[in-house]
Amino acid sequence: MSENIEKIKCLIIGSGPAGYTAAIYAARANMKPVLYEGMQPGGQLTTTNEVENFPGYPDGVTGPEMMIQLRAQAERFETDVRSGWVTKVEFTGDTHKVWVDKDKEIHADTVIISTGASAKYLGLPSEQKYLEMGGGVSACAVCDGFFYKGQETIIVGAGDSACEEAHYLSKLCTKVTMLVRRDEFRASKIMSERVKRTENIVIMFNTETEEVLGDGIGVTGARVKNNKTGAVQDIPATGFFVAVGHKPNTDIFKGQLHLDETGYIKYEQAGTSKTNIPGIFVSGDAADKTYRQAVTAAGTGCIAALDAERYLAAKE
Ligand code: NAP
Repeated sequence: MSENIEKIKCLIIGSGPAGYTAAIYAARANMKPVLYEGMQPGGQLTTTNEVENFPGYPDGVTGPEMMIQLRAQAERFETDVRSGWVTKVEFTGDTHKVWVDKDKEIHADTVIISTGASAKYLGLPSEQKYLEMGGGVSACAVCDGFFYKGQETIIVGAGDSACEEAHYLSKLCTKVTMLVRRDEFRASKIMSERVKRTENIVIMFNTETEEVLGDGIGVTGARVKNNKTGAVQDIPATGFFVAVGHKPNTDIFKGQLHLDETGYIKYEQAGTSKTNIPGIFVSGDAADKTYRQAVTAAGTGCIAALDAERYLAAKE
């Protein structure tokens, strides 16, 4: 074996709530986990402002602060947290091989995948500006909707997520304007009908966003264009929600793990974290397109660590 190869019991890929929770459990079970943080240490929560729905924080906590605490908790039990980007995996034999930053090779008895998913955005400079500032652009109504209670908001998208989130916002906001780029929904009939029936949701079909408007501190609305008539108008709003889909961060597992048609890793056995390869487990948003909450990700991180521990125990 080459000197560059490191042999470990448990490798965790990803540093969101799923990865750190898996690390806390694996470390306390003496599996000496090594966790690679990836490109966005702390994961999606680091782009959220206030987290008010994670149990145990009665006064709320900022996303970045919560991730610092989760990391500290994982390190308290000697999780080896490293920066690095997993560039290749080979799960074909008994040894699970993983390459980090192209040249570092790790052979792990168990691998817990917690690579998460990334929200898609429109890519407009004005949208990115207010997203980065925490000034009113969000891709998660359940996380951030509460901050717009009693206010007017906009949501972009026409899939099930957009309908679900528009409905969620409609219970908090005085008015929700839904921007749909085609003349129909992509969402299932039941979800789109519910949105259509909701009085304070205004649906604008054939409508695209030209610019997110703001006062330099926060969002004040959006300039939108009807792609049939060319008519442009400004819609006032303090929150601009984007629900145009998520992309699971699973590209490196293609061809090795069973993925669904949209790239989410499939659980081999419902109610567990097992994938189609023994010894490879998945937690968090990389396998979850429905719930996508920090607390559900943390729960599946726990499950993955327990499954990995039992897998190792059965091999001994
Ligand atoms: P999705 O089904 O891919 O829908 C994305 C929507 O965003 C589409 O309507 C698309 O428009 C629109 N869109 C994409 N890019 C856009 C852009 N640049 N500007 C404006 N609109 C844009 O994504 P999703 O809604 O997140 O759902 C993902 C999967 O999860 C689906 O299979 C869905 O059924 C499932 N899901 C299920 C539930 C549930 O059952 N409770 C809840 C949420 C999600 P076009 O239609 O024009 O392409």
